Amino acid sequence: MPATLPARLLLALLAASPLAIQAKDSWTTPAEAAHFRTTPSYADTQAYLQRLAQAAPGMLRMETFGTTPEGRPMTVMVAATDGDLTPEKARAAGKPIVLVQAGIHPGEIEGKDAGLMLLRDIAVTHRLPHLLDHVVLVYIPVYSVDGHENSSPYNRINQNGPASMGFRGQSQYLNLNRDYVKADAPETRAWLGLWNTWRPDLLVDIHTTDGADYQYDLTWYAEDAHKLPPSIAAWQKHAYDDQVMPAYEKLGHLASPYLEFRDGRDITKGIENFGSGPRFSTGYAAIRNRAGLLIETHMLKSYEVRVRATYDVVRSVLAAVDGDPAALLKASKDADAWAASLSSHPDASVAVTFKQDPTPKPFSLKGYAFTQTKSDVSGDLWVQYDPKVNKTYAIQSWNDLLPDMAAPLPAAWAIPPQWTDVIARLDAHHIACTRTTAPAKVAVTNDVLTQPKWADKPFEGHHMVKDVVVTPGTETVELPAGTVIVRTDNADAVLALNLLDARAPDSMLRWGYLNAIFEQKEYGEPRVLEALARKMMAEDPSLKTAFDEKLKSDPAFAANPRARLTFFYERSPWYSVQKVGSYPIVRLDGAALSAVR
Ligand SMILES: [Zn+2]
Repeated sequence: MPATLPARLLLALLAASPLAIQAKDSWTTPAEAAHFRTTPSYADTQAYLQRLAQAAPGMLRMETFGTTPEGRPMTVMVAATDGDLTPEKARAAGKPIVLVQAGIHPGEIEGKDAGLMLLRDIAVTHRLPHLLDHVVLVYIPVYSVDGHENSSPYNRINQNGPASMGFRGQSQYLNLNRDYVKADAPETRAWLGLWNTWRPDLLVDIHTTDGADYQYDLTWYAEDAHKLPPSIAAWQKHAYDDQVMPAYEKLGHLASPYLEFRDGRDITKGIENFGSGPRFSTGYAAIRNRAGLLIETHMLKSYEVRVRATYDVVRSVLAAVDGDPAALLKASKDADAWAASLSSHPDASVAVTFKQDPTPKPFSLKGYAFTQTKSDVSGDLWVQYDPKVNKTYAIQSWNDLLPDMAAPLPAAWAIPPQWTDVIARLDAHHIACTRTTAPAKVAVTNDVLTQPKWADKPFEGHHMVKDVVVTPGTETVELPAGTVIVRTDNADAVLALNLLDARAPDSMLRWGYLNAIFEQKEYGEPRVLEALARKMMAEDPSLKTAFDEKLKSDPAFAANPRARLTFFYERSPWYSVQKVGSYPIVRLDGAALSAVR
């Protein structure tokens, strides 16, 4: 450093270089001490956090919010000024709550090492003294703890360090970033408890991407405006486009919206939306009426570059929220009010699937030169990038989405008490519901589900219903005492709809929790059905006509003796008792809702 450098510039340079820490500094994090070649174990991570909490007891509080399937504690660190270390104090002080989580995919662990540095710099060394003046930070250093401890040099083949890294699934091989709605994993249920305790205003989920090579050290994703309450969409657009990402780039980085290439072999063919959905972190925040930000550092940048990128982007997020805390609080409040008001509109409905906006937008991609060679190994093209040659490509972006299928939003749903798996999930999400204390005969809207098709492979431990035809009807039913009633005149309306409506791709029905409704349990013996068929045709000549026509028009039917007999069984009173495909979760309008006790 030249001796003539003005003192103020020197100070500014030091401030802009957060990691210029002397090796002898007792607050050097384990990753810094290892020059980012390694990342610390969970025990070493906790030990460092413990030291921080002891050094700044008024500003940092460490607690356990759950236990993993292998018995490890799930740690969260709360950071705030003025001792605002509880949800009640945060709310009383008018401070928005930002939940930052690292290691949901524990091989992608930059967020842990960046978080240790950031907490130190905020609370102990005071290098960044004002980031939490008006914000409360809730920080999960390692979400998938068991996956983090299942560490190996061979876990992420695409990634450039650290030397050993965690495994994508938790110990039951579940991907926590597909588990938000079905909440199978104990970790997810613990997380939901934490979420409902804090009701954060913003969720930041930290990852490392796979895919193509390009100049950006970080890409980021936010849910499309059509998936969000209007106030959240507006807040996110302003915060991310105008504040967070420009501030991040000013710190010496390059950021891009998430890059899902339409053709992995040719980046010039454009990008599209990767899809997301409520099973993902940001998709779940969206149906909880909250802002979300997914950040992905780039797997081929060095671990040190990736940790510094994460540090700077989280710092930029906190600075943006801290700069205008009221804006985020208002966005959350308006979003809850918006969700609570949806069902007051006649024929209310909510989009549950989304499709690509067919009109692309121009997009400038800061990539690298690349070559395509015919490969005699794969038989396909072999793409090789040259990181020494920067190249900007003018491509098209199909990132924007439009609403596709909508589901009706009733005044309430009624769930008969025997559907315990569904009710347990409502409880896991802390969705407010009541139980009826007396039987009630009410007119309801019910869906009949036909032509179900299941995925041919298990996904996250489930054979999902990938397609089903939903036909609504009305009938009067007797709801037993103990029926669970879920009202929609509250902030959880969109959340509940995504669990309870069969059209929603992450509903309990789609995850297979109600597969048994499609199974015919009783059946007719052929000799019984032979007699039944003759009796039914004798009594109803139009049935005989319909049967004869089907024999002529449907050769597969005609060639299938069982199907021919079943034709009659399905039209008999013996079949209709079970109501195969009748969806047991029914919709109540305002009048029906007022008739149940
Ligand atoms: Zn990931």
